[in-house]
Amino acid sequence: MNKKGHVLNAALLSIGLGYVLEPAGDETTFLTMLEVGVPVILGALFPDVDTAFGKHRKTLHNLPILLGFFAYPLVFDGNLQYVWLGVLTHYVLDVLGSKRGIALFYPLWKEEFGSPTGVTTSSNRATLVTVIVTGVEIAAIAAVVALLDAGTISVPEIAGL
Ligand SMILES: [Zn+2]
Repeated sequence: MNKKGHVLNAALLSIGLGYVLEPAGDETTFLTMLEVGVPVILGALFPDVDTAFGKHRKTLHNLPILLGFFAYPLVFDGNLQYVWLGVLTHYVLDVLGSKRGIALFYPLWKEEFGSPTGVTTSSNRATLVTVIVTGVEIAAIAAVVALLDAGTISVPEIAGL
């Protein structure tokens, strides 16, 4: 996916998250969108830095990088919270929304994983695919948050959900 797709995905995801985390639809909802939106959009822009440094869709498109961003706020007292979510949504969009896919297990395994649902980044259906993938992500996060609220599952508070 191109930069426009990643920013659209991250922005829509943050709007959805605002309503998932603070459903009232008031000032708190809007502030949550802002709180989550800035780090998520920055995180979503980060992986494609590997077009300039390293191998594109490999060097910064893998699970060790994602794990690093997830662990960072746990180690450094909440710093860079939510950035991991931007990195994750970038990966999801590259896997589900593009033909080529990404090397999730790089540098151990150079294989790039894509999906038959993917389109080329230049396709005029790229925006539609982006919106659909984002809708699926918001539904998945809403389900996780519901399970957390019900006490069925638990994760560290710092993960942001
Ligand atoms: Zn990418």
